[in-house]
Amino acid sequence: QLYLSQANYSPNKCKDVEYKPIRSVLVANRGEIAIRVFRACSELGIRSVAIYSEQDKMQVHRQKADESYLVGKGLPPVAAYLSIPEIIRVAKENRVDAIHPGYGFLSERADFAQACVDSGIRFIGPSPRVVHQMGDKVAARQAAIEANVPIVPGTPGPVTTTEEAVNFCREYGLPVIFKAAYGGGGRGMRVVRKMEDVEELFRRATSEALAAFGNGAMFIEKFVERPRHIEVQILGDRAGNVVHLYERDCSVQRRHQKVVEIAPAPNLNQDVRDRMTTDAVRLCNHVGYENAGTVEFLVDEAGRHYFIEVNARLQVEHTVTEEVTGIDLVQHQVKIAEGLTLPELGLDQSQIKIQGSAIQCRMTTEDPAKNFQPDTGRIEVFRSGEGMGIRLDSASAFAGAIISPYYDSLLVKVIAHAGNLPASAAKMVRALREFRVRGVKTNIPFLLNVLENQKFLTGTLDTYFIDEHPELFQ
Ligand code: ADP
Repeated sequence: QLYLSQANYSPNKCKDVEYKPIRSVLVANRGEIAIRVFRACSELGIRSVAIYSEQDKMQVHRQKADESYLVGKGLPPVAAYLSIPEIIRVAKENRVDAIHPGYGFLSERADFAQACVDSGIRFIGPSPRVVHQMGDKVAARQAAIEANVPIVPGTPGPVTTTEEAVNFCREYGLPVIFKAAYGGGGRGMRVVRKMEDVEELFRRATSEALAAFGNGAMFIEKFVERPRHIEVQILGDRAGNVVHLYERDCSVQRRHQKVVEIAPAPNLNQDVRDRMTTDAVRLCNHVGYENAGTVEFLVDEAGRHYFIEVNARLQVEHTVTEEVTGIDLVQHQVKIAEGLTLPELGLDQSQIKIQGSAIQCRMTTEDPAKNFQPDTGRIEVFRSGEGMGIRLDSASAFAGAIISPYYDSLLVKVIAHAGNLPASAAKMVRALREFRVRGVKTNIPFLLNVLENQKFLTGTLDTYFIDEHPELFQ
């Protein structure tokens, strides 16, 4: 496999970067993120191309692109967006210069990045080699060790037997966390606090990972108690330049999945911030990271930070960084893929500044009163919150939209930007209260409870917050 090759790469060596304009972009994705990319293309004067599954025939993302093509005829809903040969064929037939993978689906698949490169299509993201390395939690940790970035103690390689799991727990002590070695999105994860639970939880995590990612291999890590999840946004170019766009706090999580994100992280010691951003840049320099990416850390109560993973793609919560820095990440992704360097794009670290505070809420069609069960059906009434400092990124948020059970339940990303955290929270609360959604249940009541919570407002919450506050579900 070509993407495993290190042959042409030497860290920190500046190569001459060839500039090749991108005139058309296909987005190998759906929903709000496809639209987000089409908007950037439109503003850059670039032709945009959508793909859609049979189930998505009526979806708005088709309409927001200049052209759209059906893929995965006869395939199940998700599989359509994973059919690499077909997506490449559509791209080639329609003379597409570049493919943006969005998030989820094929976004972290090195074989997809490689298939694009092999077909002479630019992949808007890191090189296949880096996508591969970062997608493998064990390899990514190895890179962090080499770059002298602190990590949580963990297994040196993937673990496949309960015996190895038991041995690790005996040696390092509990609690530990099992993670799918080749997974993401919180699936295949189990926190283990008692020795007698090790075998049972290992088996469950393994079978969940196998079902979700086709590989049951686990990776075991010491569990950090009461951590905050703080991540650093990175942009790198092909010449080896890397800058950071500061951090986001994503500690408001349900089942290890983010619900509300904030930029910058409130109540974060400046030394800790400096260490994290410097470490993130050093790691990306070390691996030759190109395009947008995120380096995720856990920060413990003592303010120590530990690398957990790199997401080698655009993230759902990239919006809050855009709001506080004023930098359009997606446009920059395209420009970097054209071969422009960060200096050519005017991105100098000393010029990247944070203004105010931004919050993103993931409004979903889930019922908080029924354990966040996804709701489906037709949206009968839809009015959104608007006004100064409010940004909405959505796809099927309008009266008449049909919410299907086929894809994730994200309805609209609501982003509020104001001078500081209390002000952006007040703006968010005001906007959430303006929403009227009838026909499907949403998590708005839950989001309001979070935003009005004192811990949220003072920026003092950790990843235990939602679990420890069941009253938020009322
Ligand atoms: P995924 O790829 O599934 O998103 P991550 O490694 O990013 O998984 O972890 C997701 C979340 O799980 C983190 O934000 C954190 O809340 C929790 N988590 C992961 N690793 C640890 C750990 N070692 N200790 C404590 N919590 C952890």
